[in-house]
Amino acid sequence: MIFRSVVAASSAVMLSLPGLHLGGAAAPPMPPPAVQAEARDMLAELVGINSTHNMGTMEAAKAVVARLKSAGFTDADIQLLAPPEHPTQANVVVRLKGTGQDRPILFECHLDVVEAKAEDWSMPPFKLTEKDGYFYGRGAIDMKDEDVAVLSALMRLKREGFKPDRDIIVVFTADEEGGDANGVEWLMKTHKDLVDAEFAINAEDGGGLIQGGQRLGYGVQTSEKTYVTYQMETTSPGGHSSRPEPDNAIYRLAEGLVRLEKLEFPLHMNDTTRGYFKAQASRQTGQLRDDMLAVSRPDPDPAAVARLTADPRWKPYLRTTCVATMAQAGHAENALPQRAAATIQCRMMPGDTQADVQLRIEQVIGDPRTAVTVIAPAEESGESVAQPGMMRRITDVVHDMWPGVDVFPTMDVGASDALYSRAANVPTFGVSGMWGDVDDNRAHGRDERVSVPAFYEDVEFNYRLMKSLSRAT
Ligand SMILES: [Zn+2]
Repeated sequence: MIFRSVVAASSAVMLSLPGLHLGGAAAPPMPPPAVQAEARDMLAELVGINSTHNMGTMEAAKAVVARLKSAGFTDADIQLLAPPEHPTQANVVVRLKGTGQDRPILFECHLDVVEAKAEDWSMPPFKLTEKDGYFYGRGAIDMKDEDVAVLSALMRLKREGFKPDRDIIVVFTADEEGGDANGVEWLMKTHKDLVDAEFAINAEDGGGLIQGGQRLGYGVQTSEKTYVTYQMETTSPGGHSSRPEPDNAIYRLAEGLVRLEKLEFPLHMNDTTRGYFKAQASRQTGQLRDDMLAVSRPDPDPAAVARLTADPRWKPYLRTTCVATMAQAGHAENALPQRAAATIQCRMMPGDTQADVQLRIEQVIGDPRTAVTVIAPAEESGESVAQPGMMRRITDVVHDMWPGVDVFPTMDVGASDALYSRAANVPTFGVSGMWGDVDDNRAHGRDERVSVPAFYEDVEFNYRLMKSLSRAT
């Protein structure tokens, strides 16, 4: 669901920015009426299938397969695969054969959605409702809209007899929203031959931000922070609370946590965050603008770094962070504690390692009686560096659709499916044709919706993007 987190991560920033004033701009190109009608029909079909983790993605995957066949794909082009231990968490892998001049391109889409309870919604969540210029239903924005946009693009190219210079592979996967059978991870680990590519496009990440009808800017996600969770744990002998002892696990844990709060990781910039700050600076003024420009250059002024670090909106883009998220201690109100533990969540900059972060935590706590252990290991993933030609093509397609918008690289401070393909040495870029409304982000929420014109623009965008990126470089 990472496109949404890009929006969330960036929106606080964007809220303070003047938007691009595109009032009066020509309407973006739209797909032909027959393509729109089919896309709407496919959206209704997929939203109508409950593909939450508990239900699995098999039924949605079969619907995708049937659509692909209706466009001329054969059994030889399509794989329907599920891990043997999770037979309902199905994935579709489809390939449009190219001339083989270049290595394949992969598009990543997830079919699963988060739970939706009918009693929480104003309309049935697993049924497409069109009302007031919006399509409503679970998955309308995360990400059955983009599933359909990518599926429609592929079907359109197939029907046109388009011969790309490289194979186009599309995966429709399970368990992106949670569960043990993440489709991208599983396919990369067990079916690499089917999904190996020169680079991948994560179709739900990146994309535009819109506010008050104005387009604020368009991000291409080229990296993300990866998370790792540690436990801090300490013990003491315990005893009766009427006789306090100097050795108390709760006090010792608390002292360690206070020291941890002060831990500041080193500044860690990369090409993505430098480009990101440079783009943001162009819409800021005064000190903030100067500070953003400073960190977008090599060897930034420490005072500029300190000012940006002090602002929680910007700090995550500058360095690895760790924070205490849970604590458990003691076993009875009238007993001295025998154990005290806290959970520490860290979000690492690409390139930082779990071992280094752990060492820094141990050093700052400085107490050999407090043990630090990993409870959720990191899936480390680096930064994907876009070839200049590729960024130009993406930018050209964006500008064909929405002339004049600012296109810049972004780093997610959350995590997405892209980390699994990046970890498998497939550089991955979040590129979506969807414009998220800063003030109306309902992904995972009630009455989830997508604007009808934005949906059709996404359908057209993906068709153009797939065509452009599958040409030889
Ligand atoms: Zn999603």
